[in-house]
Amino acid sequence: MLDCGIHPGYAGDESLPFFDHVDPASVDLLLVTHFHLDHAGALPYFTERTSFKGRIFMTHPTKAVLKMMIADYVRIGYNSEEGLYSEADVDSCLRKIEIIDFHQSLEIDGIKFRCYNAGHVLGGAMFTIEIAGVNVLYTGDYSREDDRHLMAAETPNQKPNVLIVESTYGKSDHESAKEREARFLSHVEKVVNRGGRCLIPVFALGRAQELLLLLEEHWEANPELQRFPIYYASRMADRALRIYQTYVNMMNEKVRARMDVSNPFHFRHIHNLRIKPDDDEPCVVMASPGMLQSGMSRQLFEKWCGDRRNSCIIPGYAVEGTLAKTILGMPEQIAAQSGRMLPRRCDVQYVSFSAHADYSQTSEFVRIMEPDNIVLVHGAKAEMNRLQKALLSMLQPSRPEVQVMAPRNTHIVSFEFRTDKIAKVIGSMADNVTARRGRRIRGIFVTENFSHRIMAPADLPTYTNLSVNRIRQRQHIPFHNNFNLLTYFLRQVFDSVEAVEPSSEKAGADGGATGAAETAAAKAKAKAASQAVLVEGCVTIRHKPPDRVLAEWAASPTGDMIADACVAIVMQAASGPASVRLTSKVCCHGAHEEHTDDCGHEHETVSLEERQQQVVYAIRGVLRNMFKEIDVDLLEEDSAEGEIGSAVPKGERAALKVVVDGVGAVLRCNFEEQTCLVYECDDKAVGDTLSSVGRQILLTLSHGAHSHVH
Ligand SMILES: [Zn+2]
Ligand SMILES: [Zn+2]
Repeated sequence: MLDCGIHPGYAGDESLPFFDHVDPASVDLLLVTHFHLDHAGALPYFTERTSFKGRIFMTHPTKAVLKMMIADYVRIGYNSEEGLYSEADVDSCLRKIEIIDFHQSLEIDGIKFRCYNAGHVLGGAMFTIEIAGVNVLYTGDYSREDDRHLMAAETPNQKPNVLIVESTYGKSDHESAKEREARFLSHVEKVVNRGGRCLIPVFALGRAQELLLLLEEHWEANPELQRFPIYYASRMADRALRIYQTYVNMMNEKVRARMDVSNPFHFRHIHNLRIKPDDDEPCVVMASPGMLQSGMSRQLFEKWCGDRRNSCIIPGYAVEGTLAKTILGMPEQIAAQSGRMLPRRCDVQYVSFSAHADYSQTSEFVRIMEPDNIVLVHGAKAEMNRLQKALLSMLQPSRPEVQVMAPRNTHIVSFEFRTDKIAKVIGSMADNVTARRGRRIRGIFVTENFSHRIMAPADLPTYTNLSVNRIRQRQHIPFHNNFNLLTYFLRQVFDSVEAVEPSSEKAGADGGATGAAETAAAKAKAKAASQAVLVEGCVTIRHKPPDRVLAEWAASPTGDMIADACVAIVMQAASGPASVRLTSKVCCHGAHEEHTDDCGHEHETVSLEERQQQVVYAIRGVLRNMFKEIDVDLLEEDSAEGEIGSAVPKGERAALKVVVDGVGAVLRCNFEEQTCLVYECDDKAVGDTLSSVGRQILLTLSHGAHSHVH
């Protein structure tokens, strides 16, 4: 957020910016350009009465003067019921303000910002802000004119992508300093010489000090004027001058040169006006506030406006809706604060001492800075539009692509920026990588505060506040089938499926943290527990009989993908029609015709029908990966009878009708001998494949049956 002021023409809540349109909690950083209330007056409200939690920066003199100005504002404001914040709010707010020096660069949460001299008032700053490679320059109120005490605004040496610039004076140009000063002084002289009182309403701080220096200089040079007193009527007068005395070293060379003789803000001819002058003496009075809203300047104006010898000089910008603006139109009458109408007989002069950039300053500044985009702020609509048109026509011939925006309050302005993203390779990777176009590198891509880096995982704790963590995934899948069949399926899909020794796998899974605690019994149990395979070196599939398998892997893009594929294969294998329940229960209650009694474990036998189904299912599963269209069916017992021969005991065989990609064959499987013969096949290659697949499946299934049983 840039600046946080109040509207000088309104009071209470109405003077606040449209805070409803921002989420104060989302503001990380608040930069305040200078102490004027239209730039900083809402600060205590924003820091104390909203959810704002960010950091606030301003220059040292800005903070010093602001402290005084806000305290004064609260004293006036709190008398009315519309006070925006209390003295306690102000104290708390001031404690949160941090200091930035001119030309100091800081970085907060990836926002880089730097402070430059803006002229305008003591401590007045402009800021360059860089976020994600986009450069913004905000001028605040600025002046490129070197006056009696302030340096002119600087020109930062970086070309901004967006220039946010004040448009207060629109297309108008100030008269030259020389003309303006001559006109001002001759008018002041004329008024006091005709016995009148000359009222100059001023902001307590800022232009007032420049005018005081000017009057002091003129009175010093013209002894005949010294009989007319000059008063500086502000509650803040003493303190303000002390602050100015303190910061003389931040002002320009003219004032610093005078410092060698005596303090330039230690005036001989100017007095602090504590009592309101009620005699008739001609005098010059500078009084705040600057726009005659209330206070001392207003009281004096109401008192003196009926006398035609008197004069009021408005020395700067007057906001619409204030008395200062009204009297510039020379009305016959004015409304007093009491509501009574007063005749206006005094004359009213406008001499702009405003330290705001005029059109020639702003257009020159734009030419020097060469911004890609311009956003106008801090101006009445008409002035803003005039400046927008003038800048556009100035830029049109050479840089027609430059946008000049004049947004109304609360309107959002957006720009699109395309920048090359650059990531730096750092740490141990930088030692091992030689830069070459097209070369692939492998590391962790870290984006932090809008900058990108690539580094080895081991370097993360060194260069970031990230740490390396591993996530071990475990997934249980219901599975009632033969594990060797599953292994066989996995081998059809993956190149690497290795059997894992239960003990070593166990140690690996727990990261070697077992050992002493593990009892021999537990080891034995683990060994007896299950078979397991390691797929592609990263996913372990372990059988958890009787009803599930456990997939385990370290989470990674590759690991997750392989695990997904494994789980799909497990589910395919588990849900097949030949799913065999190798439990005593099923065995006992099942309607089996036969048992393989020779194994000795009656509760873990497999019926012929189940084995046949298993073979059909397994062959289908394998062939599906090899051919586009497959059809595998079990042939009726009868038709297989004659060809295999009566020597083979019943229950040890299966005959399958297979069609793959239009090639048909009959497969005759002998479970006992694990042979698979192919008949009625026209294609030798297909026949050989079918024979080999059948044999492998018989081998796998017989091995599986035995390993379970024993
Ligand atoms: Zn200002
Ligand atoms: Zn301003």
